[in-house]
Amino acid sequence: MAAAHDTTTAPEVVLLMGPPGAGKGTQASLLAEERGLTKLSTGDMLRDHVRRGTPLGERAQAIMESGELVPDDVIVGMVRATMQAAPAVRFLLDGFPRTPAQAASLDALLDELGARITAAVALEVDDDELVQRLVQRAHEEGRSDDNEDTVRNRMEVYRRQTQPLLDYYAGHGALKRVDGLGDVDTVTGRIREVLP
Ligand code: AMP
Repeated sequence: MAAAHDTTTAPEVVLLMGPPGAGKGTQASLLAEERGLTKLSTGDMLRDHVRRGTPLGERAQAIMESGELVPDDVIVGMVRATMQAAPAVRFLLDGFPRTPAQAASLDALLDELGARITAAVALEVDDDELVQRLVQRAHEEGRSDDNEDTVRNRMEVYRRQTQPLLDYYAGHGALKRVDGLGDVDTVTGRIREVLP
């Protein structure tokens, strides 16, 4: 029941994982709202820094445009500050963690905060569909990291650095694989089904 979720302060940390273009951002917003969680998107936070022209934004911009990952210490620092300042540990994480080092830092941080990962949802979409979606998003949103070369590199970076994390969460019994193909509502429904 939505009302029950809105008022609880019980810790809940849901990870939304998957390759670029899998629909993480859209699903993260919907599910965060529905479960009374704060959406924490490291990509959105970085884009905000770039827009505001902060030193962090200036450092991150070129890295983001190449499709590589921003250094772990920068990302972990941002996430740590946000989580520590929050009144309750109730988050939906979109695009974090992305490396084994980030996953280890998240575990340590949640330990400190007396919380644990509720579920790691992996949205699965095949490569052809991903490229199509990202090219479409480039037209619609004008994201400077949605051009074809960057898209290809971001997918490669995902395979190399982030995909191994799925095994890590599977090993902890937290991984929930969800078919990301279909309309938004259908996919939201599938995610809802795998969440406790
Ligand atoms: P996203 O919107 O999540 O696809 O992120 C866009 C870009 O921001 C990525 O391609 C990375 O350059 C950077 N980024 C976002 N989240 C992270 C993260 N957790 N670790 C490292 N870099 C990140």
